[in-house]
Amino acid sequence: MLLETATVVAEAGGHILRGGAFKPRSSPYSFQGLGEEALEYLQEARELTGLPVITEAVGIDELPKVAKAADIVQIGSRNMMNYPLLRLCAAVSRPVLLKRGFASTVEEYSQATEYLTAGGNTRVILCERGIRTFERATRFTLDLSSVPLLQEMTSLPVIVDPSHATGDARLVPPLAKAALAMGADGIMIEIHPNPKKALCDGLQSLTFESFQTLMVELKALAAHLGRQM
Ligand code: PEP
Ligand code: MN
Repeated sequence: MLLETATVVAEAGGHILRGGAFKPRSSPYSFQGLGEEALEYLQEARELTGLPVITEAVGIDELPKVAKAADIVQIGSRNMMNYPLLRLCAAVSRPVLLKRGFASTVEEYSQATEYLTAGGNTRVILCERGIRTFERATRFTLDLSSVPLLQEMTSLPVIVDPSHATGDARLVPPLAKAALAMGADGIMIEIHPNPKKALCDGLQSLTFESFQTLMVELKALAAHLGRQM
């Protein structure tokens, strides 16, 4: 499934492949990912497509394995305030994608990035992935205003994850376009060969077909904006 997905991502013009080997699930009874076995699959996908790969280190134990296998280390929303983990990430020789804590302010987020940058790892990518609000119509509330604020405060690239923000595949294309239009430095989109059968996050995953359509639309929008994808 990963190799098939990777091929679709590469052919549609995606730049980086993200797949979860270790999954930070809200319930301990939910599928937790395939772990180290999946790190090997990610490397196979990189060899097949040439795409750099990114995957999450859910804790201190996983970090060395992830830093060895992946081109970029992801630190998830639930770990944005895990300062011991951030200190260790400051010392890895990989770029780090630090996602926004879903209950964290922009200021707390910007301070968390400094654990990495001041600690010696300046190759940091930020990701707005939605925050908790009173609104239950979407899984989280995508805080688009954080994107230009964080770009200005940190001078780091800020990408947007409309998939985890909304939890709803129907809302992913319009919010991806909004992210591009407002100047986000990248978009992270969750896709699956058969979203209905996905073991995790199927409701928010685009089918290959809808992803391909979205990529064509994003490229047209980027050209219109004088930006490149
Ligand atoms: C993910 O990106 O796979 C993920 C679990 O997202 P978040 O940490 O934003 O919940
Ligand atoms: Mn997910």
